[in-house]
Amino acid sequence: MTTQKGQIDIKTENIFPIIKKFLYSDHEIFLRELISNAVDATQKLKMLASAGTFKGELGDLTIHVEVDKKNKTLTVRDRGIGMTAGEVKKYINQIAFSSAEEFVKKFKTKTEAEQNAIIGHFGLGFYSSFMVSEKVEIKTKTYKKGGATKAVRWECDGSPDFIMEEIDKTDRGTEVILHIDNDNKGFLEDYKINELLSKYCKFLPVPIQFGMKTEFEPVEGEKDKDGNPKTKEVQVPNIINNTNPLWKAKPSEATDEDYKKFYRELYPLSFEEPLFHIHLNVDYPFNLTGILYFPKVKKDYELQRNKIQLYSNQVFVTDSVEGIVPEFLTLLHGVIDSPDIPLNVSRSYLQSDQRVKKISSYITRKVADKLSEIFKNDRKAFEEKWDDIKIFIEYGMISEEKFYEKAEKFALFKNVDGKYFTFEEYKKHIEKTQKDKEKKLIYLYANNADEQFSYIEAAKERGYDVLLMDGVLDSHFINHLEQKFADSHFARVDSDSIDKLIKKEDEAPSKLDDKQKELVKNMFERNINKDRFKVEFENLSETDLPVTITQNEFMRRMKDMEAIGGSGMMGMGNLPDMYDLVVNTNNPLIGKLLIEPDEKKQDELVKQLYDLARLSKGLLKGKELSEFVKRSVSIIK
Ligand code: ADP
Repeated sequence: MTTQKGQIDIKTENIFPIIKKFLYSDHEIFLRELISNAVDATQKLKMLASAGTFKGELGDLTIHVEVDKKNKTLTVRDRGIGMTAGEVKKYINQIAFSSAEEFVKKFKTKTEAEQNAIIGHFGLGFYSSFMVSEKVEIKTKTYKKGGATKAVRWECDGSPDFIMEEIDKTDRGTEVILHIDNDNKGFLEDYKINELLSKYCKFLPVPIQFGMKTEFEPVEGEKDKDGNPKTKEVQVPNIINNTNPLWKAKPSEATDEDYKKFYRELYPLSFEEPLFHIHLNVDYPFNLTGILYFPKVKKDYELQRNKIQLYSNQVFVTDSVEGIVPEFLTLLHGVIDSPDIPLNVSRSYLQSDQRVKKISSYITRKVADKLSEIFKNDRKAFEEKWDDIKIFIEYGMISEEKFYEKAEKFALFKNVDGKYFTFEEYKKHIEKTQKDKEKKLIYLYANNADEQFSYIEAAKERGYDVLLMDGVLDSHFINHLEQKFADSHFARVDSDSIDKLIKKEDEAPSKLDDKQKELVKNMFERNINKDRFKVEFENLSETDLPVTITQNEFMRRMKDMEAIGGSGMMGMGNLPDMYDLVVNTNNPLIGKLLIEPDEKKQDELVKQLYDLARLSKGLLKGKELSEFVKRSVSIIK
């Protein structure tokens, strides 16, 4: 074959400007595409060898990536099946270009929104190398023997014109040489290539070498002055990938240590160890492998989100899994690998893909099964992890009905004494004591055991149990449970006096008549901040505190939810917190107030009661607190 000049058989001219413009943001994927092709060609050769079709030596199959700054080239070289001249014509001139051409044709007639969607559908493969090159060369020699199997060189500058000629290349395989254009010189920097290789190629199944690296090797028989083995610097090939990532191993063959080690490999910057892992491994109805880790969740859990990496046959696809895996699982870490996850597609495309949807519901089920297994096999270990994992479980139960159905059997409640109960166990635990006169079961909870200490004590004195619901999602979760649990209601211990929270019978009679109540009310109102406190009366027992502060459950929940970004529609963000100042009509001190003739003394006593109530609610601060202390000292005197 002499040098051939030819025209690639496409009808659309100038496809480059369009492609360059619209694929700009994703330029870097060209490297992944070229390396994937090299990996495919290598894997095909291995298959041919094991089927006996290829009888030669496989030899070293390492794929090389090389940068030549002087000549401005970036080369990807493999020792795979290679191509004959006929195959170059067919696969490169026709197939690779025709998909690019189809892309442009569709592209031209669409609106911008549609264009963006189309980009997502196209794998530009080999063709994407033109996004960064002024010229691309291929030198290739097929593994086949005899006939027209001489090595060929192909060259194209991106116009439909190409050059093809026979060359002397003795080694089997393909070399793709990109002549990087001036706008893309960054791809000639080692650090940039290293970055892309570790992003896209870290777990490809064929070794990939990028230059050499320095290592320290012990010198045999020699020790330094401290008696440690002497080392010397050696240059070794810089292999950038782990060809056997743990998710491909059989779960039965991997140890706990292996999983921890792999976690560090995935997240070299993370110092925390994961709580536990789930190894996914299915081949029906789709093929999927992977490892999911439950991380220890920090306060600012948003930072830890979207760390799951998606792979398609060990080729990195994306690490922004929003909308691809169920929302609550975006808090997990790890890897999911499935050939059913399409490469080169936009996120919106992935999100609507039916296969991806199936994968997502499978993962949800698998996570629920694993949690249920840990719960059944080792409840103690499960309880120990509960505080760390409850955020996932509550999130999942709120957002995925299917997950709720499984999780209601292993989700736990923790009470203020640190005891854990399943939902069913807890119901049994409080059923006898915490039903009110309407037969409604009242779940009492605290969200801050210190601040609500006196309220918790009051509840315990009545023989009630108090749950600790202090997680970030708990206020949402409580709302959700109230919809699920029949004839039940959740009330925070400080949202009303305890006897009103669980009303057992009609109120006790009051020692004050309406006129007296009016007098007491006036005394309080002239001494308190009326914008934030409302005076209420209750007929509690003589030994209950004279004045307590409660906060309406409904109002408070609205504010809580708003604070964590729940329902902003109420627009209550600017309202101050409102409280009830509950005066116990039956406490003897209130009677004493009424018979106190000196108005100044009345005020002093009222202020003292008001401040004491605020103090136990943690509402007394700054100047008012120091005034309270001074007043208290003078009363003692
Ligand atoms: P795809 O890889 O999606 O098929 P490409 O445009 O990337 O599309 O490549 C077109 C074809 O060119 C491949 O299917 C393959 O037959 C051939 N090819 C590309 N790169 C190589 C290579 N390194 N070795 C052998 N054949 C290759």
